[in-house]
Amino acid sequence: MSDFPEVAARLVRAIEDWPEAGVTFRDITPLLAAPEGLRATVDALVDAARAFGPLDVVAGVEARGFLLAPLIAEALGIGLVPVRKAGKLPARTLAENYSLEYGEAVVEIHADAVTEGARVLLVDDVLATGGTLAASRRLFERAGAEVAGGLVLIELPALGGRDALGDLALTALLEY
Ligand code: AMP
Repeated sequence: MSDFPEVAARLVRAIEDWPEAGVTFRDITPLLAAPEGLRATVDALVDAARAFGPLDVVAGVEARGFLLAPLIAEALGIGLVPVRKAGKLPARTLAENYSLEYGEAVVEIHADAVTEGARVLLVDDVLATGGTLAASRRLFERAGAEVAGGLVLIELPALGGRDALGDLALTALLEY
């Protein structure tokens, strides 16, 4: 049985009013910095990823998804694709806009990042409004991939991210 919930409750840090007033930021850096935290996180993520069935690619969403996705991809023996903020990828890209509380953001993948029909798992640290993961899903669907689901360490259910993801299968290891 996974000890992730107990370890995470101890090591995920809440920072009040950051990056702005009214937001409680869930900081996973102490969890990853502690050897037992990293071990429990990897074990829980890999178990959760396996439950999605056969996968070809793990997609890590900039920036903190970059810390998690490679751990899963390497353990499963599959590939890794970064979902980047606008203007960072050197070759031809696909781009998707999404709304933030104030303004808009853009995520991109390389147009040739996945092969037709590849089964992709989207990975990020926190699901808040769901805008980032929903835009990431659209990118991979436009690229011809099949998005098997989303996997996050932490879901903030009050922000309605699951609804924004529609019928996408989503696993969250923890809720706040
Ligand atoms: P969203 O698109 O609203 O689901 O926001 C998800 C992105 O914002 C993720 O990449 C998270 O890393 C980050 N994020 C949003 N809210 C928080 C929070 N309270 N604590 C930590 N990260 C957050």
